[in-house]
Amino acid sequence: MSGTIDIEALCAAKGLRITDQRRTIARVLSDAVDHPDVEEVHRRAAVLDPGISIATVYRTVRLFEEAGILERHDFNGSRSRYEAAGDAHHDHLIDVESGRVIEFHDSDLEELQRRIAERLGFRLVDHRMELYAVALARDADAVTRDKPADNSVEADAKAG
Ligand SMILES: [Zn+2]
Repeated sequence: MSGTIDIEALCAAKGLRITDQRRTIARVLSDAVDHPDVEEVHRRAAVLDPGISIATVYRTVRLFEEAGILERHDFNGSRSRYEAAGDAHHDHLIDVESGRVIEFHDSDLEELQRRIAERLGFRLVDHRMELYAVALARDADAVTRDKPADNSVEADAKAG
């Protein structure tokens, strides 16, 4: 759900110096809806500016993360993946076969977590929920895959 966040504007707001290469990397990250890792960010940035090295991408991503502009996910201990921080709260389902990340928000789940914390004597302030799953009916052509439930939200394919 990160496609709507303008990372370059956030850099300006945080007082980060913006170079051309940082601007390119910020644009790649702003456009991403799939929680890319550093190598993928580098691949996309290099299309726009072949002079960008993977070391620059590493440094820039770390800088953005330290400034609170990016959120890092270490899904199941795999390579770190990134999305814009400060987005509307959502949780993630990770397709363990393809690595695809699907975002969802479920109000029943949110409420359940709040109540569990309360039962244990706490007020919930944050949580991370990661579901690791394999797709149903991956090879069964005859079976139509169920539509996502109404309260699940898949990352929108970004136009353009
Ligand atoms: Zn996400």
